[in-house]
Amino acid sequence: MADQTRVLLDDIDEPGLHTIEVYERLGGYQALRKALTTMEPDEIVAELQASGLRGRGGAGFSMGQKASFMPKGTMDKYLCCNADESEPGTFKDRLLMQKNPHRLIEGIVIAAVAAGANRAFIYIRGEYVLQADILNAAVAEARARGYVGANILGSGHDVDLVVHRGAGAYICGEETALLDSLEGKRGNPRLKPPFPANQGLFRGPTLINNVETLSNVPIVIAKGAEWFKQRGTEKSTGTKVVSVSGNVQRPGNYEIELGIPAREIVYGLAGGPPPGRKVKCWFPGGSSAPVLLEEDLDRPYSFESMAEAGSMLGSGAIIVVDDSVPIVSLALRVARFYRHESCGKCVPCREGTNWTVKMLERIDRGEATPMDIEILDQVQQNIMGNCLCVLGDSMAMPVRSMIAKFKDEFIAHNERAREAADRLAVGAGLSSEPVDAAA
Ligand code: SF4
Repeated sequence: MADQTRVLLDDIDEPGLHTIEVYERLGGYQALRKALTTMEPDEIVAELQASGLRGRGGAGFSMGQKASFMPKGTMDKYLCCNADESEPGTFKDRLLMQKNPHRLIEGIVIAAVAAGANRAFIYIRGEYVLQADILNAAVAEARARGYVGANILGSGHDVDLVVHRGAGAYICGEETALLDSLEGKRGNPRLKPPFPANQGLFRGPTLINNVETLSNVPIVIAKGAEWFKQRGTEKSTGTKVVSVSGNVQRPGNYEIELGIPAREIVYGLAGGPPPGRKVKCWFPGGSSAPVLLEEDLDRPYSFESMAEAGSMLGSGAIIVVDDSVPIVSLALRVARFYRHESCGKCVPCREGTNWTVKMLERIDRGEATPMDIEILDQVQQNIMGNCLCVLGDSMAMPVRSMIAKFKDEFIAHNERAREAADRLAVGAGLSSEPVDAAA
């Protein structure tokens, strides 16, 4: 079994880690003290940039660079922690918030000071009731110790922090829909530009980062950018918590050094598919990532390597699909999810996800022509790059990759279903075939 490289999950099994006493005993809030008493906000941003820390929520954008986009000045500025973890296959933020909420809070306060924001929010998905309760208790503890609120540790910096529960909509994980939802409106994506760093929450400059990204901030500040960069690859520094699910023997969250072969994660850590089964394909970054094949497991698991393979690392959710799964069923499952979650604001996504589901259902029933499979692919092309937010592409990219890699199976599935339907019709006396009168 391969080894994990535990940095974020180093103390995760420590009993009572979610309490401030245990967290402080293990060195918690020392990074905040260091940042507030020995560093200027610009130095914190520079350290984050030097570390190469990239967003762990999906886009993989440089965290320090994002913070550097925040304008100077005394206007109201905000920090939003995106804890709306809804991408199918992703469950690592849930673990981080449940077991180690204070590291997230420490990261939020440091990042807020760096960005000049004095109000911060954790926008947590509605289904995470337990995690929201744990976070609320942790924020109260941190406030009582002077780590959150006015004049933190006597530094003159103020950062207030509120935990806000969403209502269970996938689209509210999209950063601008999250902002609308937080403002009390329906969670609809906004047109960009303006980007949130210029005009975000309540029209103020807003820094938005994912739970895992912000949880890395105290580590970068405490140990330094150089230490952080010693792990991972040149363009994918540090470690990553990956959620492995699907057809594997040991599903779960594993922390790995970025750049190790994906095979070590799927087979070494997660135990590979059940005995007698083979990997048919796998999603390297949640259900919105184009699928890769078994041979791609030998590639390094990093942002750049997954992009070179034609997919993406995304949120770090590896979903393994074995050879017992019909590819049409898999495509249907993905398409139905995104059809359900589409907010309906723009036509290519609203109509395209619905058309895709209907066409896949026709293939599943054996009612499609070979041309339908070409049209299905064209529909995906017409969705990609033509939507207001990435949700449309999130369905089109994986479905298109399945058509490209398993086209023969789509055709064979349709033929088999047609033959089975014909046999049923003959058995029921519904066939249109001429009946032999002599028989
Ligand atoms: Fe809404 Fe889909 Fe358009 Fe995004 S792409 S704005 S989810 S309709």
